[in-house]
Amino acid sequence: MSTGHAQDANVDPAEIAKFEELASRWWDRDSEFKPLHDINPLRANYIDEHSPVAGKTLVDVGCGGGILAEAMAQRGAQVTGIDMGEAPLSVAQLHLHESGLDVDYRRCTAESLAAEGARFDVACCLEMLEHVPDPAAVVAACAELVVPGGTLYFSTINRNPKAYAFAIVGAEHILRLLPAGTHEYAKFIRPSELAAWLRDANLVLQDMTGLTYNPLTRQYRLNPRDVSVNYMVKAVKPAS
Ligand code: SAH
Repeated sequence: MSTGHAQDANVDPAEIAKFEELASRWWDRDSEFKPLHDINPLRANYIDEHSPVAGKTLVDVGCGGGILAEAMAQRGAQVTGIDMGEAPLSVAQLHLHESGLDVDYRRCTAESLAAEGARFDVACCLEMLEHVPDPAAVVAACAELVVPGGTLYFSTINRNPKAYAFAIVGAEHILRLLPAGTHEYAKFIRPSELAAWLRDANLVLQDMTGLTYNPLTRQYRLNPRDVSVNYMVKAVKPAS
Protein backbone atom coordinates (compact mmCIF):
# COMPACT_ATOMS: atom_id res chain seq x y z
CA MET A 1 0.00 0.00 0.00
CA SER A 2 1.15 3.52 -0.74
CA THR A 3 2.41 5.45 2.27
CA GLY A 4 2.79 8.91 0.82
CA HIS A 5 6.56 9.00 1.34
CA ALA A 6 8.89 10.58 -1.21
CA GLN A 7 10.43 7.22 -2.06
CA ASP A 8 7.08 6.13 -3.46
CA ALA A 9 7.29 5.27 -7.13
CA ASN A 10 5.16 8.15 -8.35
CA VAL A 11 7.14 11.05 -6.89
CA ASP A 12 10.18 12.53 -8.63
CA PRO A 13 12.49 13.82 -5.86
CA ALA A 14 14.26 16.16 -8.32
CA GLU A 15 10.92 17.80 -9.13
CA ILE A 16 10.03 18.21 -5.46
CA ALA A 17 13.50 19.72 -4.82
CA LYS A 18 12.90 22.39 -7.49
CA PHE A 19 9.85 23.66 -5.66
CA GLU A 20 11.44 23.33 -2.19
CA GLU A 21 14.20 25.65 -3.37
CA LEU A 22 11.84 28.37 -4.63
CA ALA A 23 9.19 28.02 -1.92
CA SER A 24 10.03 31.12 0.16
CA ARG A 25 9.01 33.32 -2.78
CA TRP A 26 5.71 31.54 -3.44
CA TRP A 27 3.52 34.48 -2.49
CA ASP A 28 5.77 37.12 -4.07
CA ARG A 29 3.86 38.23 -7.14
CA ASP A 30 7.06 39.40 -8.83
CA SER A 31 8.87 36.09 -8.36
CA GLU A 32 9.06 32.87 -10.34
CA PHE A 33 5.48 32.33 -9.24
CA LYS A 34 4.15 35.41 -11.05
CA PRO A 35 2.61 33.28 -13.83
CA LEU A 36 0.64 31.24 -11.25
CA HIS A 37 -0.56 34.43 -9.56
CA ASP A 38 -1.52 35.90 -12.93
CA ILE A 39 -3.57 32.90 -14.04
CA ASN A 40 -5.10 32.26 -10.63
CA PRO A 41 -8.25 34.41 -10.89
CA LEU A 42 -8.96 32.95 -14.35
CA ARG A 43 -8.73 29.34 -13.23
CA ALA A 44 -10.43 29.90 -9.85
CA ASN A 45 -13.36 31.61 -11.56
CA TYR A 46 -13.50 28.91 -14.24
CA ILE A 47 -13.79 26.24 -11.53
CA ASP A 48 -16.33 28.19 -9.48
CA GLU A 49 -18.44 28.95 -12.55
CA HIS A 50 -18.46 25.32 -13.75
CA SER A 51 -19.18 23.87 -10.30
CA PRO A 52 -19.94 26.45 -7.58
CA VAL A 53 -17.69 25.45 -4.69
CA ALA A 54 -19.33 27.21 -1.73
CA GLY A 55 -20.10 24.60 0.90
CA LYS A 56 -18.30 21.86 -1.08
CA THR A 57 -15.28 19.83 0.00
CA LEU A 58 -12.35 20.27 -2.36
CA VAL A 59 -8.93 18.65 -2.56
CA ASP A 60 -6.10 20.53 -4.25
CA VAL A 61 -3.51 17.97 -5.38
CA GLY A 62 0.02 19.42 -5.67
CA CYS A 63 -1.14 22.61 -3.96
CA GLY A 64 2.35 24.09 -3.50
CA GLY A 65 2.22 27.33 -1.52
CA GLY A 66 -1.57 27.36 -1.69
CA ILE A 67 -2.40 29.96 -4.34
CA LEU A 68 -5.36 28.02 -5.74
CA ALA A 69 -6.27 26.41 -2.40
CA GLU A 70 -6.75 29.83 -0.81
CA ALA A 71 -8.72 31.17 -3.78
CA MET A 72 -11.13 28.27 -3.49
CA ALA A 73 -11.40 28.66 0.31
CA GLN A 74 -12.19 32.32 -0.30
CA ARG A 75 -15.03 31.21 -2.55
CA GLY A 76 -16.46 29.13 0.30
CA ALA A 77 -15.01 25.66 -0.29
CA GLN A 78 -13.76 23.50 2.56
CA VAL A 79 -10.28 22.90 1.18
CA THR A 80 -7.67 20.21 1.78
CA GLY A 81 -4.33 20.95 0.11
CA ILE A 82 -1.81 18.16 -0.44
CA ASP A 83 1.75 18.29 -1.72
CA MET A 84 4.95 16.28 -1.32
CA GLY A 85 7.11 19.40 -0.83
CA GLU A 86 7.76 20.34 2.79
CA ALA A 87 8.80 23.95 2.21
CA PRO A 88 5.84 24.79 -0.06
CA LEU A 89 3.48 23.36 2.57
CA SER A 90 5.12 25.41 5.38
CA VAL A 91 4.74 28.53 3.27
CA ALA A 92 1.11 27.63 2.58
CA GLN A 93 0.46 27.04 6.27
CA LEU A 94 2.10 30.35 7.28
CA HIS A 95 0.18 32.30 4.67
CA LEU A 96 -3.10 31.34 6.35
CA HIS A 97 -2.11 33.74 9.17
CA GLU A 98 -1.98 36.52 6.62
CA SER A 99 -5.16 35.65 4.74
CA GLY A 100 -7.21 34.52 7.73
CA LEU A 101 -8.49 31.61 5.64
CA ASP A 102 -8.79 28.01 6.71
CA VAL A 103 -7.18 25.22 4.64
CA ASP A 104 -6.17 21.77 5.82
CA TYR A 105 -2.64 21.14 4.47
CA ARG A 106 -1.15 17.66 4.40
CA ARG A 107 2.06 16.17 3.08
CA CYS A 108 0.95 13.17 1.04
CA THR A 109 0.33 11.97 -2.48
CA ALA A 110 -3.06 11.72 -4.19
CA GLU A 111 -2.55 7.96 -4.28
CA SER A 112 -2.01 7.65 -0.51
CA LEU A 113 -4.89 9.98 0.37
CA ALA A 114 -7.21 7.97 -1.89
CA ALA A 115 -6.01 4.73 -0.29
CA GLU A 116 -6.95 6.17 3.13
CA GLY A 117 -10.50 6.49 1.85
CA ALA A 118 -10.71 10.30 1.83
CA ARG A 119 -13.45 11.61 -0.50
CA PHE A 120 -14.26 15.11 -1.79
CA ASP A 121 -16.88 16.83 -3.94
CA VAL A 122 -14.24 18.46 -6.15
CA ALA A 123 -10.63 17.59 -6.98
CA CYS A 124 -8.20 20.07 -8.56
CA CYS A 125 -4.81 19.10 -9.89
CA LEU A 126 -3.34 22.10 -11.65
CA GLU A 127 0.13 22.52 -13.16
CA MET A 128 1.24 19.33 -11.44
CA LEU A 129 0.81 16.36 -13.82
CA GLU A 130 3.85 17.44 -15.88
CA HIS A 131 6.04 17.03 -12.78
CA VAL A 132 5.28 13.39 -11.89
CA PRO A 133 6.68 10.12 -13.29
CA ASP A 134 3.25 8.55 -13.89
CA PRO A 135 0.60 11.22 -14.48
CA ALA A 136 -2.06 8.67 -15.47
CA ALA A 137 -1.83 7.18 -11.97
CA VAL A 138 -2.41 10.63 -10.45
CA VAL A 139 -5.50 11.07 -12.66
CA ALA A 140 -6.77 7.66 -11.47
CA ALA A 141 -6.11 8.60 -7.81
CA CYS A 142 -7.96 11.90 -8.29
CA ALA A 143 -10.90 9.93 -9.74
CA GLU A 144 -10.93 7.82 -6.59
CA LEU A 145 -10.74 10.94 -4.41
CA VAL A 146 -14.06 12.33 -5.64
CA VAL A 147 -17.52 11.12 -4.76
CA PRO A 148 -19.77 9.76 -7.53
CA GLY A 149 -21.15 12.83 -9.28
CA GLY A 150 -18.08 14.81 -8.24
CA THR A 151 -16.09 17.17 -10.46
CA LEU A 152 -12.41 17.25 -11.35
CA TYR A 153 -10.13 19.87 -12.87
CA PHE A 154 -6.73 19.30 -14.40
CA SER A 155 -4.38 21.73 -16.08
CA THR A 156 -1.05 21.17 -17.77
CA ILE A 157 1.00 22.08 -20.84
CA ASN A 158 0.52 20.67 -24.35
CA ARG A 159 3.39 18.95 -26.17
CA ASN A 160 4.10 20.36 -29.65
CA PRO A 161 6.65 22.77 -31.20
CA LYS A 162 4.63 25.86 -30.28
CA ALA A 163 4.35 24.74 -26.64
CA TYR A 164 8.13 24.19 -26.63
CA ALA A 165 8.67 27.68 -28.03
CA PHE A 166 6.30 29.41 -25.59
CA ALA A 167 6.60 27.39 -22.39
CA ILE A 168 10.33 26.67 -22.48
CA VAL A 169 12.18 29.01 -24.87
CA GLY A 170 9.86 31.99 -24.28
CA ALA A 171 8.96 31.66 -20.61
CA GLU A 172 12.27 30.29 -19.30
CA HIS A 173 14.90 31.77 -21.62
CA ILE A 174 13.57 34.93 -23.28
CA LEU A 175 11.02 36.45 -20.90
CA ARG A 176 12.56 34.68 -17.89
CA LEU A 177 9.19 34.30 -16.24
CA LEU A 178 10.32 30.91 -14.89
CA PRO A 179 13.75 29.55 -13.92
CA ALA A 180 15.48 27.56 -16.67
CA GLY A 181 14.74 23.89 -16.14
CA THR A 182 11.32 24.39 -14.54
CA HIS A 183 9.70 22.34 -17.26
CA GLU A 184 10.83 19.34 -19.25
CA TYR A 185 9.43 19.13 -22.76
CA ALA A 186 9.06 15.34 -22.77
CA LYS A 187 6.75 15.53 -19.75
CA PHE A 188 4.28 17.84 -21.44
CA ILE A 189 0.91 16.22 -22.11
CA ARG A 190 -1.22 16.29 -25.24
CA PRO A 191 -4.95 16.83 -24.68
CA SER A 192 -5.58 13.48 -26.38
CA GLU A 193 -3.33 11.76 -23.83
CA LEU A 194 -5.04 13.43 -20.88
CA ALA A 195 -8.43 12.55 -22.40
CA ALA A 196 -7.38 8.88 -22.65
CA TRP A 197 -6.26 8.83 -18.99
CA LEU A 198 -9.60 10.36 -17.97
CA ARG A 199 -11.44 7.65 -19.91
CA ASP A 200 -9.26 4.94 -18.34
CA ALA A 201 -10.26 6.32 -14.91
CA ASN A 202 -13.96 6.18 -15.92
CA LEU A 203 -14.25 9.96 -15.93
CA VAL A 204 -16.20 11.95 -18.48
CA LEU A 205 -14.47 14.91 -20.09
CA GLN A 206 -16.93 17.82 -20.06
CA ASP A 207 -15.00 20.90 -21.05
CA MET A 208 -11.60 22.00 -22.21
CA THR A 209 -10.19 25.51 -22.46
CA GLY A 210 -6.85 27.01 -23.36
CA LEU A 211 -5.02 29.57 -21.25
CA THR A 212 -3.21 31.86 -23.63
CA TYR A 213 -0.47 34.39 -22.89
CA ASN A 214 0.03 37.52 -24.92
CA PRO A 215 3.68 38.57 -24.47
CA LEU A 216 2.94 42.10 -25.71
CA THR A 217 0.15 42.90 -23.25
CA ARG A 218 1.59 40.41 -20.73
CA GLN A 219 -1.91 39.18 -20.11
CA TYR A 220 -3.41 35.73 -19.87
CA ARG A 221 -6.90 34.79 -20.91
CA LEU A 222 -9.08 31.72 -21.23
CA ASN A 223 -9.57 30.74 -24.84
CA PRO A 224 -11.54 27.58 -25.60
CA ARG A 225 -10.28 27.67 -29.22
CA ASP A 226 -6.57 27.59 -28.42
CA VAL A 227 -5.29 24.70 -26.33
CA SER A 228 -1.91 24.75 -28.08
CA VAL A 229 0.14 25.63 -24.97
CA ASN A 230 -1.48 25.82 -21.51
CA TYR A 231 -4.89 24.25 -21.09
CA MET A 232 -7.37 23.13 -18.49
CA VAL A 233 -10.04 20.44 -18.47
CA LYS A 234 -13.17 19.71 -16.48
CA ALA A 235 -14.27 16.11 -15.97
CA VAL A 236 -16.97 14.44 -13.92
CA LYS A 237 -17.23 11.12 -12.20
CA PRO A 238 -20.54 9.55 -13.22
CA ALA A 239 -23.07 9.32 -10.40
CA SER A 240 -23.38 5.55 -10.62
N1 SAH B 1 -1.01 23.42 -8.13
C1 SAH B 1 -0.27 24.60 -7.69
C2 SAH B 1 1.25 24.41 -7.70
C3 SAH B 1 1.87 23.91 -8.99
S1 SAH B 1 3.63 23.65 -8.86
C4 SAH B 1 -0.68 25.76 -8.54
O1 SAH B 1 -1.03 25.55 -9.71
O2 SAH B 1 -0.68 26.89 -8.06
C5 SAH B 1 3.67 21.84 -8.76
C6 SAH B 1 3.53 21.33 -7.34
O3 SAH B 1 3.37 19.92 -7.41
C7 SAH B 1 4.75 21.59 -6.46
O4 SAH B 1 4.36 22.20 -5.26
C8 SAH B 1 5.31 20.19 -6.19
O5 SAH B 1 5.90 20.07 -4.91
C9 SAH B 1 4.07 19.34 -6.32
N2 SAH B 1 4.29 17.92 -6.63
C10 SAH B 1 5.11 17.38 -7.56
N3 SAH B 1 5.01 16.04 -7.57
C11 SAH B 1 4.09 15.71 -6.61
C12 SAH B 1 3.51 14.49 -6.17
N4 SAH B 1 3.85 13.32 -6.72
N5 SAH B 1 2.57 14.54 -5.20
C13 SAH B 1 2.19 15.72 -4.66
N6 SAH B 1 2.68 16.92 -5.05
C14 SAH B 1 3.62 16.91 -6.01
